[in-house]
Amino acid sequence: MNIVLLGPPGAGKGTQAEILKDAFKLLHLSTGDMFREEVKAGSEIGKKLAEYMNKGELVPDKIVTDLVIGRMGKPDAKSGVILDGYPRTGAQAESLDKALKDSGKRLDVVLYVNTTDEVVVKRLSGRRICKACGKIFHVVNMPSKKENVCDICGGELYQREDDKPATIKNRLEVYVKSTKDLIKYYRDKGFLYEFDGGMQKEDLFKAVKALFNKLGLLNK
Ligand code: AMP
Repeated sequence: MNIVLLGPPGAGKGTQAEILKDAFKLLHLSTGDMFREEVKAGSEIGKKLAEYMNKGELVPDKIVTDLVIGRMGKPDAKSGVILDGYPRTGAQAESLDKALKDSGKRLDVVLYVNTTDEVVVKRLSGRRICKACGKIFHVVNMPSKKENVCDICGGELYQREDDKPATIKNRLEVYVKSTKDLIKYYRDKGFLYEFDGGMQKEDLFKAVKALFNKLGLLNK
């Protein structure tokens, strides 16, 4: 089963990806994470990727698509993948379709986890992250036992600069603008299913599972 996961920051996409990955033994393929690993490893392709990433530019479609398709051919992706962070544009969605077809694979479903600006602002502005181990907390929904101290490793918790309320609105606007074509592309093809990210994560998972069942994806 191959899934594309879309959604604005703070809608609960990351949490759902983790749940789906474990439930269906899928590979969670975040292009941003994959590229950062290549850069860190200092590989030839990593050097090329860094040229774009360091400037904050998108990596050219051909490079991204080849890397994603290559990664999908590895043994740990046998049961399928959750694509996160790719495709980002309508053009990337088209090249992904073509490349999947050429390699005998297909996209099964696009899950669009969306929610209101109000929920996003509440979630992101309350998010706190451990400086040492990266564990994520929330001041209301998942507070640490001791204020600003990580329950896991005792590290100090901090707030990401772009999680401050003033920047959240802008991030949302950028997201909507940049994914408009992509969402239209998948909606027109009948692939896109929209979910309310404001639901509890367990309820959202139940709704997603019901959809998979309806689409006959559970035995794939
Ligand atoms: P992210 O962590 O998703 O924000 O990605 C970090 C960087 O990786 C981006 O700023 C881009 O340079 C590159 N990148 C990740 N995904 C893509 C993609 N689908 N298309 C082009 N560039 C990407």
